[in-house]
Amino acid sequence: MSVSRFAKALRNIFALAADFVSLIRLQRDSFVRVGRRGDVNELRKAYEGFHPDVRAVLEACPDCHKWAILEREPLPRWSDGRVVLLGDACHPMTPYMAQGGATAIEDAAILARCIEKVDGEDIEGAFQRYEAHRKPRTSRIQAISSANTWMKGGDEDTSWLYGYDAWNVPLTPMEPFVKTF
Ligand SMILES: Cc1cc2nc3c(=O)[nH]c(=O)nc-3n(C[C@H](O)[C@H](O)[C@H](O)COP(=O)(O)OP(=O)(O)OC[C@H]3O[C@@H](n4cnc5c(N)ncnc54)[C@H](O)[C@@H]3O)c2cc1C
Repeated sequence: MSVSRFAKALRNIFALAADFVSLIRLQRDSFVRVGRRGDVNELRKAYEGFHPDVRAVLEACPDCHKWAILEREPLPRWSDGRVVLLGDACHPMTPYMAQGGATAIEDAAILARCIEKVDGEDIEGAFQRYEAHRKPRTSRIQAISSANTWMKGGDEDTSWLYGYDAWNVPLTPMEPFVKTF
């Protein structure tokens, strides 16, 4: 991620370099998780063959930071008793479908609907219903994002992703939920 001040405005640029991503994948356990200062020349070198406009923007960057891109396999469960997860906490994904934030917002809407349905009674059941509804979708997105294959062939129908309406999609029926723990 590069941050630069040019045209008297704060600009935030997110730049990926293939080698850098592989490096992160190899070193993910030891990589610094909080952004640390990067080498802006290394960044420019990674974009050497790009369009002059892209290189001009990178030339204008006074400095940059390196951030690890972290992901994980779908979790076995998202809730424990009256504690429940949503967003990156339960389904972190690579950014290649630009869905991390979108799915977190969808989670919030479905979770709110599930809680509303139980009217303060069976909160644990509401959490399990939320997970049963959401996990197939987020797991699918995690897998495609991880493979970085979205819209690179075989994805002609994107309506399942962009046509999802969290406020109106039918919820997964309340029963039965199989406890996985
Ligand atoms: C460069 C970049 C580009 C992205 N582009 C897109 C995009 O185009 N579209 C998209 O949908 N998504 C995008 N994402 C992903 C998106 O930003 C995340 O998936 C989303 O922010 C996850 O939301 P969240 O609420 O789950 O977690 P977060 O946004 O990480 O929120 C978690 C919050 O908890 C706080 N916190 C952590 N620990 C504690 C603690 N112990 N006590 C109290 N608070 C704590 C954190 O400070 C943070 O504010 C992008 C991400 C990055 C890094």
